[in-house]
Amino acid sequence: MPIPTIKVDTLDHAYNGAPPRLLAEATETRNRLYSNRTLPLSMTRRRGLQPPPGMTVESFLAAVDELRRELNGPADLIQINNDAVELVDGWYLDKPATTHDAFHVADPENLASSAVIFPRSTADVQAIVRWANRHTTTGAGKKKRGIPLYPISMGRNLGYGGAAPRVPGGVVLDLGRNMHQIVNLDGANASCVVQPGVTYFALYEAVQKLNESQPEQPLWIDTPDLGGGSVLGNAVDRGVGYTPYGDHFANHCGMEVVLPDGSLLRTGMGALPGPDGADSPAWQSFQHSFGPAVHGLFSQSSLGIVVQMGFHLMPAPPAHQSYCLTFPREDDFAAIVEVIRPLAQRGVLGNIPQLRHVVQELNVTGQPRETFRADKARADPTKPLTAEEVHAAASRLALGDCAWVFYGTQYGATQQALDDQIADITSAFASAIPGTRLVRPEDVPTDHYLHARALVCAGVPVLRELDWLNWVPNGAHLFFSPIAPTRGADARALHDLIKQLHVEHGFDLFPTLCVAGREMHYISNIVYDRADADAKQRAVRLMRAMIAACAARGFGEYRTHLLFADQVARTYSWGGQALLRFHETIKDAVDPQGVLAPGRSGIWPDAYRGEGWELGVDDVDLNVIQPKQSAKL
Ligand code: ADP
Repeated sequence: MPIPTIKVDTLDHAYNGAPPRLLAEATETRNRLYSNRTLPLSMTRRRGLQPPPGMTVESFLAAVDELRRELNGPADLIQINNDAVELVDGWYLDKPATTHDAFHVADPENLASSAVIFPRSTADVQAIVRWANRHTTTGAGKKKRGIPLYPISMGRNLGYGGAAPRVPGGVVLDLGRNMHQIVNLDGANASCVVQPGVTYFALYEAVQKLNESQPEQPLWIDTPDLGGGSVLGNAVDRGVGYTPYGDHFANHCGMEVVLPDGSLLRTGMGALPGPDGADSPAWQSFQHSFGPAVHGLFSQSSLGIVVQMGFHLMPAPPAHQSYCLTFPREDDFAAIVEVIRPLAQRGVLGNIPQLRHVVQELNVTGQPRETFRADKARADPTKPLTAEEVHAAASRLALGDCAWVFYGTQYGATQQALDDQIADITSAFASAIPGTRLVRPEDVPTDHYLHARALVCAGVPVLRELDWLNWVPNGAHLFFSPIAPTRGADARALHDLIKQLHVEHGFDLFPTLCVAGREMHYISNIVYDRADADAKQRAVRLMRAMIAACAARGFGEYRTHLLFADQVARTYSWGGQALLRFHETIKDAVDPQGVLAPGRSGIWPDAYRGEGWELGVDDVDLNVIQPKQSAKL
């Protein structure tokens, strides 16, 4: 298809743009992705405007008119997703597709919103929540429920549901477009306060400016693999980065939250008012307040809309050095994990390293799978590369043939200290694993992934991981992200299970492990072709099977795509589903009409329960997700 001339905006013009330093790379990435797209750029709605459940198109439009009058803003403050609004997947750096999940795993219209509202302020958010509570309908259980609202910050949570509402016809609150101020940047306290629309790219640029004014204490941000996401949105979804401040929720400090009744709450020391109407001077200093801690209730949550959030920033270390280690055999996996554990527990490793399978050396080149296929006659969407093909292709790339690649970074006072640390780490691995090889950035070409990794591990946001999507045409991905203890035997068991299920369902396995001293996030990225209904169906079946099989071994996901949340939530079933029941009790108390993100994290408000909204292990056809009475979980 001809590459559309969608402009790549820069941050100077658009809150969601690319930093000027990445403009050329962003344009190239976009062109490569579009050259691999065979689907039309936009899709016409077959179902027209889908109002929230229980409402007619007329009653919904009348309610929206009432809100328009109340907000008294420009016409584009509310977008009604009627026939005139096409479904556009776009790409990562566009204004995200707020109409649906751009990485659809089934019919894109099944997760479409009825409208998108772009609040300008906390007061707007409060007014919208109160409006949603005023317009009630009743479900099958005759309980009153309001209009379902789904807050997003940037909506770039691709692989986990993007900007889609869980309930078809839900209303999306796109907070980022009009609320993207860095409210505070405190160089001395090394902290910031941001609104939902502040991206890692934007915060990074602001911190660079601050650093010019305080060269004696330069600061770093922490960024995930891609820099276009919302700092706040990623943290509330408990996303991670790779510097020592990589646990984003753990490094937050203070939130302001609109509750489901429209009232406001501040967490941490912000609960204590400062003098003369000012904020508490300790708000970004101490995460807690007094009494039971509530801030965790607002992560992966449907209990509040976070309108501003504080974060700690890391004082830049004088020196840092990224490197990688390669290991020759597939079977080295458990031994690698055994070596990492004590090194991480003792604080020898500077950051949370990533352990990747060598197949990722192939896909991060941005080339399609079929370029690596030795036997072109085997080109078939259901046939992953064979181990022989992976190793043959890897041997032609910069790291050479190997099985596993460990990407690490050390931070310290001098380059000499870092070199000594890396030598110690290398010998710890080498003494347990024959054939361990150290590779430093100067050993590989400038376009090798190690250089992108080095930037991310120094808090510099980049775009490089988008290249994976070229593996198949119309590439999209789903993340499967279980947690396991950092123990060789557990890691092996988990990996074998996931590998077997990938083989059965016909997908290449792309494991990335973020390994800490006691736990590891095993993140497998299922890359599929959005135009291939069979591939989407297989991806869903694979997810369902992995969730069930891992739970049976005691491994659960830390985060998931919204269509798999019910199944995941119900694997945390200890004590007769005690956790889910507690979540529901809180949900019902705080949000009695279930206006806020019903179904998020598998938690359904009272007014929806018993109607069959939940999607369980047998729900592999996600083209229809409307309630049915017999959900098997
Ligand atoms: P990003 O663009 O950083 O990847 P999103 O904006 O997509 O992140 O947010 C990730 C998820 O977190 C959303 O799907 C939503 O469920 C939740 N979320 C995002 N912003 C807020 C917010 N301001 N308040 C409450 N929940 C939010």
